[in-house]
Amino acid sequence: MPLGHITMLIPIIGLEVHVQLKTKSKLFCSCVAHEAATPNTNVCPVCLAHPGTLPVPNQEAVRMAVTLGLALGCRINSPSRFDRKHYFYPDLPKGYQISQYEHPVAEGGLVILEVPGGERPNINVGITRAHLEEDAGKSFHLDDGTTLVDFNRAGIPLVETVTEADLRSPAEAKAFLQELRLIVRTLGISDGDMEKGHLRCDANISLREYDDAGEIVGLTWNPKTEIKNLNSFRHVERALLFEINRQTECWKAGATPSVTTTRRWNDAKQQTEEMRTKEGAADYRYFPEPDIPPLVLAPLAEELKTMIPELPAAKRRRFVDEYQLKPADAKLLIEDPGLADFAEHAFSELAEWQGSLPEFAALDETEKKKGLGKLTKLCVGYLTSKLTGLLAERGSDIRIAHLTPENFAELITLVATNKLNSRTAVEVLGHMLETGADPSHIMEDRQLGQIQNTDMLAAAINRVIAGNPKEAAAYKAGKTALLQFFVGKVMKETEGTADPKMTQNLLVVTLEK
Ligand SMILES: [Zn+2]
Repeated sequence: MPLGHITMLIPIIGLEVHVQLKTKSKLFCSCVAHEAATPNTNVCPVCLAHPGTLPVPNQEAVRMAVTLGLALGCRINSPSRFDRKHYFYPDLPKGYQISQYEHPVAEGGLVILEVPGGERPNINVGITRAHLEEDAGKSFHLDDGTTLVDFNRAGIPLVETVTEADLRSPAEAKAFLQELRLIVRTLGISDGDMEKGHLRCDANISLREYDDAGEIVGLTWNPKTEIKNLNSFRHVERALLFEINRQTECWKAGATPSVTTTRRWNDAKQQTEEMRTKEGAADYRYFPEPDIPPLVLAPLAEELKTMIPELPAAKRRRFVDEYQLKPADAKLLIEDPGLADFAEHAFSELAEWQGSLPEFAALDETEKKKGLGKLTKLCVGYLTSKLTGLLAERGSDIRIAHLTPENFAELITLVATNKLNSRTAVEVLGHMLETGADPSHIMEDRQLGQIQNTDMLAAAINRVIAGNPKEAAAYKAGKTALLQFFVGKVMKETEGTADPKMTQNLLVVTLEK
């Protein structure tokens, strides 16, 4: 079909995501399941495929795969079976990979993806399947042409999650990957760190043509490109964008893709490069793994169903409903499960503080609720900007920092009741992170409290006025804009501990005397 009839080419994207499970041991042997600095140390006759050895499935890996399947809304196959996937590569010692083909652990799920600000803010992403398989070793190609192989990674359990081709842009693909990473982190089955190879992505993309009338042209999808082994969110986005442009050019030139091909992302050149035309399933000669009996998963699925923690999408909704957070704030907090937990504890502590403070005692129920909403809002601001900033500066994490939600909530109430201003609050928070002490003690020890003592403030104001007689005279002569000049001087005089509002009021009174 010449391009003249086509008004639009829409990207059709599906993902295959490998998640490395953080089990203690490998999928089919008792070797430690993580990579080591010294090559070929976490290996044994089973993962090196010595003759006569037998694979025994790791129960922990099976539980994790079923948990992920349930969290992705899939049905769990019972029985589920392992198959051999044949291909030859030096980092695959058996000459085949134990994977799953016709009876994966999980099939037919759905993830509702939120892409705030996207063209499609809510997307239903179908999950075709999620299956268990073993990782391969790693090849190192040296400059002199030799290749070395490290088998420490060989046999580490992976779950491969395959989506339907429901994604329509690189941004949506990235959002799905981030959501999947958050889900596996929430379930505690993987750290999902792309830089460390815990999460690796193959992206399938083709373009679909729409005619002048906005109708889809043709009944079938066009042959796709599979971009292999994308190992960062940035690579996923850039590779897909490059491929959209490349395929669009092919369409314009009348050379529409006729076969499915496999390409890799070359980050140095910022382009995808053809690797090979894609093998079909027949090329892999899949057949059932004869050494492993089928897995009867129904009882396990029943048990695990009750143990799935609250998933990110539900938690986002709840944070918005229960704490009246803005959706963007809820999303930001929930991106880090540790921070989300901390926030919830801090929110409930805030309610306690509110109940115990004289400032709030006289309020009626409606005012109290409104007040708590304000406190929560202030708290979210401190969590998402000031606290995360301070943690990042220290290379720390909310899980390891010496900070309790109780003390953090106290800090927020001190700000809310004007006992601390925002500048000193950050200073106090920094000390809290380092010492684990509560904010009132830090304020006392370091004299960081806001001056509310009017005598002390009046003395500071008198000193400032005495020190700036020209400006004081000008103010009295009607140049009232100088008020801010005096506020600044008083703040400096009190090292930022004065309450700005009180300072302003007292200055006006004193200057106009
Ligand atoms: Zn082993």
